[in-house]
Amino acid sequence: MRPPVIRKPRDGWAVAPNMPDYEAARASFRWEQARGALSGLPGGRGLNIAHEAVDRHALGPLADKVALRWLGRSGERRDITYRELRALTNRFANVLRGLGVGREDRVFVLLGRTPALYVACLGALKNRSVFAPLFSAFGPEPLAARIGPGDGKVLVTTRALYDRKVAPIRARLPSLRHVLLAGGGAGEGTLDLDALMRQASDQLEIEPTRPEDMALLHFTSGTTGKPKGAIHVHGAVVAHHATGWLALDLHPDDVFWCTADPGWVTGTSYGIVSPLTHGTTSLIDEADFEPERWYSILRDERVSVWYTAPTAVRMMMRAGLDVARRFAPPALRFIASVGEPLNPEAVFWGQDAFGLPIHDNWWQTETGGIMIANFAAMDIRPGSMGRPLPGVEVEVVRRDGDGVTVLGPGEQGELALRPGWPSMFRGYLHDEERYAKCFAGDLYLTGDLARRDADGYLWFVGRGDDVIKSSGHLIGPFEVESALLEHPAVAEAGVIGKPDPIALEVVKAFVSLRPGFAAGEAIERDILGFARKRLGAVVAPKEIAIVSALPRTRSGKIMRRLLKARELGLPEGDTSTLEAGTP
Ligand code: ATP
Ligand code: MG
Repeated sequence: MRPPVIRKPRDGWAVAPNMPDYEAARASFRWEQARGALSGLPGGRGLNIAHEAVDRHALGPLADKVALRWLGRSGERRDITYRELRALTNRFANVLRGLGVGREDRVFVLLGRTPALYVACLGALKNRSVFAPLFSAFGPEPLAARIGPGDGKVLVTTRALYDRKVAPIRARLPSLRHVLLAGGGAGEGTLDLDALMRQASDQLEIEPTRPEDMALLHFTSGTTGKPKGAIHVHGAVVAHHATGWLALDLHPDDVFWCTADPGWVTGTSYGIVSPLTHGTTSLIDEADFEPERWYSILRDERVSVWYTAPTAVRMMMRAGLDVARRFAPPALRFIASVGEPLNPEAVFWGQDAFGLPIHDNWWQTETGGIMIANFAAMDIRPGSMGRPLPGVEVEVVRRDGDGVTVLGPGEQGELALRPGWPSMFRGYLHDEERYAKCFAGDLYLTGDLARRDADGYLWFVGRGDDVIKSSGHLIGPFEVESALLEHPAVAEAGVIGKPDPIALEVVKAFVSLRPGFAAGEAIERDILGFARKRLGAVVAPKEIAIVSALPRTRSGKIMRRLLKARELGLPEGDTSTLEAGTP
């Protein structure tokens, strides 16, 4: 039997955790103080994300330290020091300035994970323009749906991506003034970014930036419907920095690897900003997920802090424990995961594979940074998202008409947060009404369901939309999926509520199998029987379908709404973020 709690040592750490005592840190934490850990623009001219991430290190003792270590798809490597990153981002900001692009103008970036993407992000922020990342695998329609309503003024991309994806929709994007091509090949209607960079000065003084100036435009994953554009401001950097310190335990000597693409909020908040504000070396891998490649990177690059997603963990689990053990990453100290519930099996797998548990944490595009986490020095209750960050107040509530009732320990309800942390979104793009609907009184309602135990640990139940109502019970998909994953044949599981004349809904499971197991009636019966023993007859799936893979968003989330729509023969809705190659 697996233990219900993974205990953390009280002392004797090889690297002392930034937050040795959660309660004490929570009692004394103030956001104003967290702001004090940053330097602000010289001369009291405000707060700019890129200054905190790049310039303050480039102008100090870390100037020649590697800020970004880029690993190319075919084995190339490039190290960029803080000093170099400063010069590159200054040039990019000067290019924008030269084109008459300024404060709060939207700079969309459609690039793979290449250095140009990181330079464009930080350079745009230096120019006080808004960085709006686009996932490079988007096709023309998802691009039009973001650049158009996002009032994109500049697009940074490559010739190949432009020809295939942007040229067909360019006429529909009247706001788009400049298309800058990285890597050459500019022609009519486009500009050669590399040439402009060479001509631009590498000196720049960042103009005064207010903490409330708009900095980032991030689209949500589209798991539950049409993606929403969340607006974030420069002041968010205070949270990016503090949460990296508290929840990811970042130390300046770390080699940090966030595996998320900057097209999603995790890949920007933690794949670009947070590690740089800490002066760490941040790893960028251009290639797509492949278990052996990832294991080699963890080992050969001596990654010490690794921030990834449950889907990746599940895929690595699928490759087998022996592969993990063969690679034995020598410097790994802390592993964290976000984006989907992390099944207890995965937490323990971390221990089996690396001798380290995986620390789940929870947040959303809207919150801009980690809100609930399992911390380095805090005991883990596998299956729990952990406890709220210092400075973050969480409630579990029930909606009552226009208001809410705050629920007590053990009661299941909607996860709500009391705004006040700096990376809270400031609106949904062109959708005031939807934004307003997220609030009741002084609480922000997240749309996720959870439970809090007597010690303040939060347990994810499911998204509000995914919860299943069966024979008078509310069933969270997470609990059912976690039980299914304990079956040795199950690699992935997604469950939905299927309408039923008697029970209202019954649970139907979709599972994919691990290598070596064959689909068939025998295994279906075995899995259903296993689930019934774990969960009881009411909660356990009544039906099962074995599939080759589950539909996932490009950010790695199981799209239960698609499973449901297909099961019921309903329209699929927005599928712009559906991962290519998933069914
Ligand atoms: P959309 O809002 O467009 O439907 P999305 O909510 O998936 O997409 P994101 O903002 O990328 O877009 O994802 C945030 C959501 O991911 C959370 O609201 C939650 O449902 C889920 N999530 C994130 N971390 C966790 C976690 N640790 N445990 C459970 N769920 C998580
Ligand atoms: Mg959401």
